[in-house]
Amino acid sequence: MQPGSRIAVVGAGLGGVAAAALLQKAGFKVDVYEQAPAFSRVGAGIHMGPNVLKIFRRIGIEDALVAIGSKPDFWFSRDGETGEYLSRIPLGEHALRTYGAPYLTVHRGDLHALQVSALQPGTLHFDKRLASIEEDGSGVDLAFADGSRARADIVVGADGINSRIRETLLGDEKPNYSGWVGHRALLDKDALRRTGLDFEACVKWWTHDRHMMVYDTTADGHEYYYVTGVPHPAWDFDGAFAPSSREEMREAFVGYHPVVQALIEATTEVTKWPLLNRNPLPLWSRGRLVLLGDACHPMKPHMAQGAAMAIEDGAMLARCLSETGLSDHATAFRLYEANRRERASRVQAVSNANTWLRTQENPAWVFGYDIFNVPLRSESGVAA
Ligand code: FAD
Repeated sequence: MQPGSRIAVVGAGLGGVAAAALLQKAGFKVDVYEQAPAFSRVGAGIHMGPNVLKIFRRIGIEDALVAIGSKPDFWFSRDGETGEYLSRIPLGEHALRTYGAPYLTVHRGDLHALQVSALQPGTLHFDKRLASIEEDGSGVDLAFADGSRARADIVVGADGINSRIRETLLGDEKPNYSGWVGHRALLDKDALRRTGLDFEACVKWWTHDRHMMVYDTTADGHEYYYVTGVPHPAWDFDGAFAPSSREEMREAFVGYHPVVQALIEATTEVTKWPLLNRNPLPLWSRGRLVLLGDACHPMKPHMAQGAAMAIEDGAMLARCLSETGLSDHATAFRLYEANRRERASRVQAVSNANTWLRTQENPAWVFGYDIFNVPLRSESGVAA
């Protein structure tokens, strides 16, 4: 391929930015096109396991992330009504020793800002909503909603669950509504402490059909976050999310433990989000277009590994393109899918089933994974 070759990444979410940063580090010329006019610190937390921290090490942001995130010693699972402990999954020093990197919980906006800072200056373009895409023998033309255009040799579709690139490859199809919503709220932990109750750094409260996952989002322990899974028959709201309320939360978690009740009473603002997924896609790439992350394998978020899979995808794609060079992108794309489909599908299935760490299981197959050191499988699935 010519020295001027370019990779266009569409979508600067957690997966797209990780892919772009790693591809740039590998020497490729990469531009990222994002529909949003800018990014802000929206109210949500996220888990980042050792499998992802190893990728951030390669990107060069691990230490900075460790400095701002919370490092829980355990993931506790507790019965939502009685408070009985169902599992105590060791993290903290154990994660560092056993899986080779820390386990963090962090504010999503802080994480994203750090990732963006790792991109080469001037390569992230905001306000670029991909409207259409056209491939010819020598490249791909991208047309954006603002009337501007770009050209690239290959295009990475990191544009989330409603991906325009997935639609180009496979046609228009809405994602499936799972029948559950997730409520999200950020709380002031100092105020909570004044109740005299114990608010653990990382705990999931479960009953048979719903749960509340709660954790710190900062190293200093001032900010606390919850995200739920609650059955709701239909998503009958406009937009990506809708406002919820303390009253709705009280009703959804009636009978739950006093600690959960205290969280609800301390809630000032809470939103609810539809939990969406898709059936596994018949293809991950075609020609010069390739998908990653939620564009490719969205899932219910109950394993806290959706973004992790998007970031792992980005790392594997960069690894495969480095192996083959851009001129043989067809081989790289096949290699990428051969090395990602099984793991992403397994995580997707466990996440959708919402069983992860409810009992004392061994999470090593997820957390111990090191994407840069696993042997590459050949396109036929055999170790290369
Ligand atoms: P996205 O983050 O959706 O990014 C897509 C980007 O593409 C966006 O910036 C969007 O604006 C842009 N875009 C879309 N269309 C266009 C277009 N036409 N042109 C240009 N740009 C476009 N995962 C975890 O790993 N840990 C967690 O703890 C966790 N908690 C979650 C909690 C909830 C309630 C939910 C709903 C999800 C959670 N996830 C978690 C999952 C995680 O959020 C997603 O899997 C992850 O964000 C997917 O990343 P992505 O980069 O593929 O897509």
